Amino acid sequence: MAAIVRIGQGYDLHRLEVGGPLILCGVSIDFDRHLAGHSDADVVLHAVIDALLGAAGLEDIGSQFPDTDPAYKGIASTELLSRTREKIEKSGYLPANVDLTIITDQPKLGPYKPLMRKRLAELLNLEAEAVGVKAKTNEGLGETGTGKAIICQAVVSLKKKA
Ligand code: MG
Repeated sequence: MAAIVRIGQGYDLHRLEVGGPLILCGVSIDFDRHLAGHSDADVVLHAVIDALLGAAGLEDIGSQFPDTDPAYKGIASTELLSRTREKIEKSGYLPANVDLTIITDQPKLGPYKPLMRKRLAELLNLEAEAVGVKAKTNEGLGETGTGKAIICQAVVSLKKKA
């Protein structure tokens, strides 16, 4: 029997490079660096996508949307998320809630948290109350503490479609 609720977790890291703007959780942030990657490198949405796929027992983001495939070059991660949502629905589930931890000392994300929450709720067709966005610094240590990279961790739950 299929479970009523399923849990998934996702993790991603992207390097920061010179030149803005920074796209995080589908929101454009005024900053002098951007995340490097094959797609738009939205580290937050990538972690969410992997959490969703894992919860549904599907293959990970790298298998679904290979970075060797030119079709995904420069693609908006919002588009990848919407395709992921379709896959989840096809497997018989809907997103129920999401909880995020974004780790970086720069830029300061406090002012952007409500925007990111609203954007992700829209993208997943959830109430804002079902989306948690937490921003942490890394106390000046490691890649995320020194402006070299941003990390995101995501946990999601899925509920069985009625
Ligand atoms: Mg990624």
